[in-house]
Amino acid sequence: PSAMREIMLEVPKVLWSDIGGQEEIKQKLKESHPEAFIRMGIRPPKGILLYGPPGCSKTLMAKALATQAGLNFIAVKGPELFSKWVGESEKAVREVFRKARAASPSIVFFDEIDALTVKRGSSDDGGSSVADRVLSQLLNELDGIEALVNVTVVAATNRPDIMDPALLRPGRIDRILYVSPPDYASRLSILRIQTEAKGEQSDQRQGDGKKKKRKMTIGPDVDLDELANSTEGCSGAEVVALCQEAAMKAMEEDLAIEYVSMRHFQQALAKMQRRITPEMVR
Ligand code: ATP
Repeated sequence: PSAMREIMLEVPKVLWSDIGGQEEIKQKLKESHPEAFIRMGIRPPKGILLYGPPGCSKTLMAKALATQAGLNFIAVKGPELFSKWVGESEKAVREVFRKARAASPSIVFFDEIDALTVKRGSSDDGGSSVADRVLSQLLNELDGIEALVNVTVVAATNRPDIMDPALLRPGRIDRILYVSPPDYASRLSILRIQTEAKGEQSDQRQGDGKKKKRKMTIGPDVDLDELANSTEGCSGAEVVALCQEAAMKAMEEDLAIEYVSMRHFQQALAKMQRRITPEMVR
């Protein structure tokens, strides 16, 4: 059906080195590399759940996994699947997996999977709601994937608690990994990637002919250690936003300004809002 054209097949370009810090989870994901499992003669995980507070690199991790393992990437947002294809949501799920098998080896990334998988029977029409049918279809598809087909499901959620446990049983989405907010070292690393200080990451890019990302230029007074300290409790997305906001402040001051200074970061910090609340953190 024509609506399904909107299910996007991507070849992601996120490298592990584009993700600041978060070394532990990177390592765990590298170990989940399907080829490594097949080489060892054991079944690769069919499904991986990444859970944790918003903006902390779950999507980036899924993309880096695909990029560096040379897998195609199909991204689906849970709520979209419902709203765009009312009455056809199960069909949409089937279609997503059909595409994934056709594009294998591939990763299907279900962002906000909780939207698709609230516990069965939680609606009042006795098990035949759209949500229930979508979940059943998802379980069917998961149970149907053979190891050799080489489709890995990666799902992300901020609310693992509201997911139907059937989805997380062995043989389904059974690798469950917590993606924490960035710690001090990770925040520092994100700040470095954003500001080009120590250009390791950007140098790597140039070699393979890829266009080098334009990074912001910072003045000599910018103290990244101090900024890493002041962003305690922030998500990765917020640390990135802080850098962008600081650049905006610099440009507001003077359009022809050459670099972003510490005062711009401080102005940006002063108006920064933090989204992560204690109950989101494990
Ligand atoms: P959500 O739960 O809201 O979907 P998420 O955990 O999937 O969030 P991402 O989409 O991966 O988060 O991250 C959002 C943005 O934040 C990224 O596009 C990137 O700009 C930035 N970001 C987050 N963490 C990092 C990191 N460790 N290194 C570099 N950038 C990061």
